[in-house]
Amino acid sequence: MAYTWMKAVQILKFSKSTPFALVQQCMAHRDSFKASEIEYHYTSNPKPKPANSDFCKFGTNFTDHMLMVDWDDVKGWEIPVIKPVEDVGLHPAASVLQFSTELYEGLKAYRTARNTINIFRPMENMKRMEYTAERACLPAFDKQEVINCICELIRVDKEWVPYSQKASLYIRPFMIGTEISIALKRPNTATFLCIMCPVGPYFATGTFSPISLLADPSYVRAGKGGVGAYKLGSNYGPTIMVQAEAASRGCQQVLWLYGKEEKITEVGTMNFFMFWINENGDKELATMPLDEGIVLSGVTRRSLIDLARQWGEFKVTERKITMNDVVMGLNENRVLEMFGTGTACVVCPIDRILYKDTNLHIPTMENGPYVAGRFYKELADIQYGRVSHEWAYTAVEEY
Ligand SMILES: *Cc1c(COP(=O)(O)O)cnc(C)c1O
Repeated sequence: MAYTWMKAVQILKFSKSTPFALVQQCMAHRDSFKASEIEYHYTSNPKPKPANSDFCKFGTNFTDHMLMVDWDDVKGWEIPVIKPVEDVGLHPAASVLQFSTELYEGLKAYRTARNTINIFRPMENMKRMEYTAERACLPAFDKQEVINCICELIRVDKEWVPYSQKASLYIRPFMIGTEISIALKRPNTATFLCIMCPVGPYFATGTFSPISLLADPSYVRAGKGGVGAYKLGSNYGPTIMVQAEAASRGCQQVLWLYGKEEKITEVGTMNFFMFWINENGDKELATMPLDEGIVLSGVTRRSLIDLARQWGEFKVTERKITMNDVVMGLNENRVLEMFGTGTACVVCPIDRILYKDTNLHIPTMENGPYVAGRFYKELADIQYGRVSHEWAYTAVEEY
């Protein structure tokens, strides 16, 4: 309050506009929303929870409530509301419908044996959401307050967090531009939303099942100067057709290549890792660097790099990996494990790449997978609170 008053007075001193309008504007603009002011509208018609969340289909079964906050460029953020999941009304000219002004995040809530609920490194998601919002011309917010609001939503729907150390509750915060205009411009109204759905284990059989990939250099996911480093919805829609092509050619996902060198950037919507013996004969865990802006900065990616550096058992390098590195490495038996990483699966082993009509067998499973398995266990131990670690953030206290 004091600050906005001071700002108002300061502007008044140097401005010739009507003082009343200015004071009103400075007083009213809210730079963030806060968890302490949430308005609660509880459902009178709670849905049955899935009988066995270990088997529910990803992304279609939502919890009872959602978080919704409107923003406009004059008043800033409105009061956050937790209310039953329902349709959001949009004018057909809404910016998001015309120009895909949308960004999203993805994280999960995990129930611990002590009946507390953890989320994993949520501030990392908020930092990514913040720089993505800036790139998308969507409004800024207070990162900690958004975490607090998400925790409140989890608390309201806490019985939806599976009572299982294999399943979890997927959390999808997102923001859309809602300005009614078919002119291409910075949206002057926007809405922040968060919805959640229980998810079973990524590997239904309980053990790793490796995936096969189509590596077709004629497709690119993101280019230099583009928006590949941002979780913007507009990055993902155009990949569906390539994914369908991969499926029609007998592969489960796409291995995204970039440039003449055919650098390996990502696997579907996961970061890419290779554990191998490199050109110099050193055991190395390698993943693409972020400096070109064509790779998404995954929280799981960051966590694996940090963990592996703590183990200190082999080199951990952010470096380019090309298709040629893979082919040479395979010919010389130097490739040990290959996997994708992301919130959904933690680590996902790769056993085959279809590249220029040749199937390359990747011996990930024959090699354990030792490193992938260890990452999977160590992260799950942190997420489900089996070990105590600063990366686990208590969203809901014991109850
Ligand atoms: C979300 C995402 C990832 C993984 O990020 P996490 O924070 O680890 O879940 C990797 N690559 C792409 C393209 C993504 O969209």
